[in-house]
Amino acid sequence: MSELRGNVALVTGAGSGIGRAIALAFARQGARLGICDINEAGAAATVSQIEEIGAEAIAVSMDVADEAAVERGTEAVAARFGRIDTMVSNAGIQIVHPIEEFPYAEFRRMIDIHLGGAFLLTKACVRHMYPQRSGSLIYMGSVHSHRASPLKSAYVAAKHGILGLSRTMAIEGAKHNVRSNVICPGFVRTPLVDKQIPEQAEKLGISEADVIAKVMLKDTVDAEFTTPEDVADTAVFLAGFRSNAFTGQSITVSHGWHMG
Ligand code: NAD
Repeated sequence: MSELRGNVALVTGAGSGIGRAIALAFARQGARLGICDINEAGAAATVSQIEEIGAEAIAVSMDVADEAAVERGTEAVAARFGRIDTMVSNAGIQIVHPIEEFPYAEFRRMIDIHLGGAFLLTKACVRHMYPQRSGSLIYMGSVHSHRASPLKSAYVAAKHGILGLSRTMAIEGAKHNVRSNVICPGFVRTPLVDKQIPEQAEKLGISEADVIAKVMLKDTVDAEFTTPEDVADTAVFLAGFRSNAFTGQSITVSHGWHMG
């Protein structure tokens, strides 16, 4: 398969979890990759895995909340490969508290990484996409772009905000032949989720098994976790879509949690 041959993709948070799975799936389809992460060792490990499958990638150290780092990193990817066709704004963290205990600094950090990071990366990438007159902007939302859960005021606010940013980019990008969409996964067993299980158990006063069964997978149709590969397949579809008919949308990949 080579659905993305010639495609240059920049993926943030690609040193772990969903971002790494997307980068590997893109590489298998023939894309060249900018692997951006604040975790340099994680990014380097993803690059090694991509090289093992015979594709090209560079590791870029990038804190997505730092404007200068985002600009520098995006330019490094464009300089290496000559263009940027696909942006995957995926880097993220999770912090959970009831609002009365939520430190404002932690709320701000969540917004800065998820929403500020998406804004900064978009700005840096469209600088290359607009003159090329092509590009695909892909944002990592969540079922929490559409639904709310307790303890997650910052995450839910940021993930809802990403829908607004992407829809605006669908309109602004259209005249430059750039499309914009959001992927909304359900719960995926990555380090981000593994960290939350004991935290939520403590804060909600329930067992870890109940966090999985009664909180995370409660509204799925089959009590299954979504996998990083499920999300990666969705990203390949969006990156490779052959026209701009598909823009301004969000795709939920969640075993049926939130149908709509
Ligand atoms: P993960 O912890 O496995 O990976 C996140 C990556 O982002 C890590 O490599 C981390 O180093 C990087 N990162 C964190 N802060 C960064 C920063 N400031 N700058 C650059 N990189 C940074 O988590 P994941 O589950 O793969 O999450 C990836 C994305 O998917 C996030 O946006 C998350 O909100 C979203 N998401 C995850 C789930 C889930 O259940 N795991 C569900 C829906 C959406």
